Amino acid sequence: MSLMKIRHSKIKYIIIHHSVCQYENSESKIDSATFQTNYLYSNVMQLKQPDVNYHYIIDKIKDEYYITIGRPLFSLCDFPDISPDYNRSSIHIALLGSYDFKIVERRTYEILSYRLINSLLKQFSLNPSRILLHKDISDNKTLTCPGDFFDKNALISNIRRFIIK
Ligand SMILES: [Zn+2]
Repeated sequence: MSLMKIRHSKIKYIIIHHSVCQYENSESKIDSATFQTNYLYSNVMQLKQPDVNYHYIIDKIKDEYYITIGRPLFSLCDFPDISPDYNRSSIHIALLGSYDFKIVERRTYEILSYRLINSLLKQFSLNPSRILLHKDISDNKTLTCPGDFFDKNALISNIRRFIIK
């Protein structure tokens, strides 16, 4: 896939996805752990290519959610349906699988907030208003990413709960 593009712009946004927006194989919608987790690790660890097009991926392994680094923050992810300004200045985070079909568990929002997003907000001096959903900024008006079941208000309330002052 794409060669690594180095980031030169300041980080201004955090964009939330579910991984079917990039990796559409239908099995993964039902069982993301079986059909996507191995792919994720083999790309990062064996091929040494930054071709997972997200900076972070959250994935349930057995009974808990874990965050995986897909692409280092100094390289850009590239989405043809969002404007270059967002492409240059965003951190992309994906929930593994499809949330058009599955409810997002409360634990997902907690882990996302507490272990990842709150520290990114602090590190890059961002306000929670800089957290956007892929569908909010896409040219594709039928896009549902990060899924019909993703509740942005639930994410924001967890972020406020764990905010680092
Ligand atoms: Zn997306």
